Amino acid sequence: MARNLVEIASYHGHVYFDPEHGRADAEALREAVAARFRVRLGQWHEQPVGPHSQAMFQIAFAPALFATLVPWLMLNHRGLSILVHPNTRFPRRDHVDDSLWIGAALALVEEVLPVEEEKADEAGEPNTDPDGKAAI
Ligand code: ZN
Repeated sequence: MARNLVEIASYHGHVYFDPEHGRADAEALREAVAARFRVRLGQWHEQPVGPHSQAMFQIAFAPALFATLVPWLMLNHRGLSILVHPNTRFPRRDHVDDSLWIGAALALVEEVLPVEEEKADEAGEPNTDPDGKAAI
């Protein structure tokens, strides 16, 4: 049986960067996203964390934003690698099997991801406040 879209509570975009050489691009991308989209930007992780094998920050967003934010990231990722994955109750397949990459795909530490959880991750309250002046 086909899975239903209502399983997707939110999406994450994980923006990876090299702390020595890619930090400026990551900062510029983060600011550009904040100026355009109502999303929840996560903290800077300067070290690999969880399944992520490089420094990164997270963009959590509602499903309704997918059709604009993801194409915008495709055109403006500044050479950075971005993992876009759905959040359902099945984190491991969300990240590993059901995700997409913008830029070069990176290794994930799959084993730390739970196969199944009680509840899918919501996007949370947006912490950006785009003023509508930046063109998408
Ligand atoms: Zn994630």
